[in-house]
Amino acid sequence: MVLMIDQFIVGTFFVTSLIGLLLLLILRPNKMRKLPKNNRKYYKIDNDVVMASPNNRHSSPESVAGPDVIVVGAGVAGAALAHTLGTDGRRVHVIERDMTQPDRIVGELLQPGGYLKLIELGLEDCVEGIDAQPVVGYALFKNGKITKSPYPLGKFQANVAGRSFHNGRFIQRMREKAASLPNVRMEEGTVTSLFEENGIVKGIHYKTKDGQEHKSCAPLTIVCDGGFSNLRRSLCNPKVEIPSCFVGMVLENCQLPVPNHGHVVLADPSPILFYPISSTEVRCLVDVPGQKLPSVANGEMTKYLKTKVAPQVPIEFRDAFISTVGKGNIRTMTNKSMPAVPKPTPGALLLGDAFNMRHPLTGGGMTVALSDIVVLRNLIKPLHDFHDAASLNKYLESFYVLRKPVASTINTLANSVYQVFSASSDEAREMMRQASVDYLGLGGIYTSGAMALLSGLNPRPSSLIFHFLAMAVFGVGRLLLPFPSPKRLWIGAKLIWGASEILFPIIKAEGVRQMFFPATVPALYRAPPVYRH
Ligand SMILES: Cc1cc2nc3c(=O)[nH]c(=O)nc-3n(C[C@H](O)[C@H](O)[C@H](O)COP(=O)(O)OP(=O)(O)OC[C@H]3O[C@@H](n4cnc5c(N)ncnc54)[C@H](O)[C@@H]3O)c2cc1C
Repeated sequence: MVLMIDQFIVGTFFVTSLIGLLLLLILRPNKMRKLPKNNRKYYKIDNDVVMASPNNRHSSPESVAGPDVIVVGAGVAGAALAHTLGTDGRRVHVIERDMTQPDRIVGELLQPGGYLKLIELGLEDCVEGIDAQPVVGYALFKNGKITKSPYPLGKFQANVAGRSFHNGRFIQRMREKAASLPNVRMEEGTVTSLFEENGIVKGIHYKTKDGQEHKSCAPLTIVCDGGFSNLRRSLCNPKVEIPSCFVGMVLENCQLPVPNHGHVVLADPSPILFYPISSTEVRCLVDVPGQKLPSVANGEMTKYLKTKVAPQVPIEFRDAFISTVGKGNIRTMTNKSMPAVPKPTPGALLLGDAFNMRHPLTGGGMTVALSDIVVLRNLIKPLHDFHDAASLNKYLESFYVLRKPVASTINTLANSVYQVFSASSDEAREMMRQASVDYLGLGGIYTSGAMALLSGLNPRPSSLIFHFLAMAVFGVGRLLLPFPSPKRLWIGAKLIWGASEILFPIIKAEGVRQMFFPATVPALYRAPPVYRH
């Protein structure tokens, strides 16, 4: 009898333990999501231990073994994206070729529209503590005259303005902020290729500094490897143009005549930019059309800057310019332009300059990258996990349309302003250049509307067309009033023709339908309608 009771107890204990174990296994992933905030679990990604956030709303049983997203490159786009996705609870693996602070002559002026995007992404503190300078407008210099064009910042809070800074300091702040999230893992390494299975990108191959080759897998790979991208070829049809190069220098302890303004000198053959990048330094970027630059090594560049450029620099900072040229710390960078022509690929996405570029004259690149991140974040928020490649791909196709109106407006403005602001031997083109400067100085809705476009505060395609046409009409009207002559009529017609020749090819390359009528593009409706408002 005792033996029978013992067997019963042992049997019951055994069966209960088995059921308990099974229940534990089944319920474990759900319980993890309910852990209190300060109670975190450690998961393994490849060979490294990373911390996964307990409030990871998007974690799924499948993704416990690896990241949800791989981000290639931690420049402006990659670092901001990693922080954004990490904040949304995704497990992010970032691979960046060089984690040391970049030292570059790119991405140093963030337009106010870009600053608003930083606020939306919770990254506005990344321009604090880096000696960034507020920028509240532009000063245009032509033939000894200054035209001031303020940004229309009136209806925004006092902190909203442009910011200019050392690009590397800004990026490093964003990298630190992303790395501080427990579910974001930053790793130094060079991504060598994407790998696919059945037409779906499954992850990347990368090499670490010690020469070791690694593989990382995730349901979504976002490539942000910049303007010199080696990886974009399989994800888009890159048609890169190089209209010009920038020659960059830093003027030390130089006061610009209009504080907190970008200074644009409408020089021959093309514009020269000056803007503060710290409380003691001014960045100078001299545009040189074409791809062939005078040699820095054999002194041709110094000669070019001293003889051709210096006489056109406004007298107020000409001496500072000449003495900086004499010091010889001259750097160059190609200015690229590339419309976004994606090949929607399941499991992968392009962002930043790897995907889309425009002439940097108007400083629109970072604003487009940050604006794209806001669009993407809002779009994929409802997706619980990314393993369903087909439905994820539909979302990503919507992204390409949703981003278009803002991105294309900034791109079109940048490429057309570069052409309008460049010198020309054609009389009508020169009239257009003068008209554009005077238009920006008109005040009222003319200045505020055009500056709202340039600053990224109101980058609407219809506004772009309105101001471009209004500027052309203004130019022609000035020619014909008070008495039109046949010659003036002819120049006026050429001005309108010239303006259309600049604007329409750029818009065509951007995609007329996607830019102006996105609602007629079927891909827009591939994602659930909830996020279309
Ligand atoms: C001369 C010039 C001036 C500009 N000035 C302005 C300006 O004033 N304002 C503005 O808004 N925009 C400006 N731009 C544009 C702006 O710099 C870019 O739009 C912006 O930097 C794009 O960010 P990104 O993250 O795509 O690229 P990047 O910021 O270039 O970042 C790319 C990152 O990817 C990493 N990487 C590359 N390949 C690999 C790989 N294989 N594996 C791992 N990591 C990799 C790189 O190390 C880098 O950190 C300028 C551009 C130029 C050319």
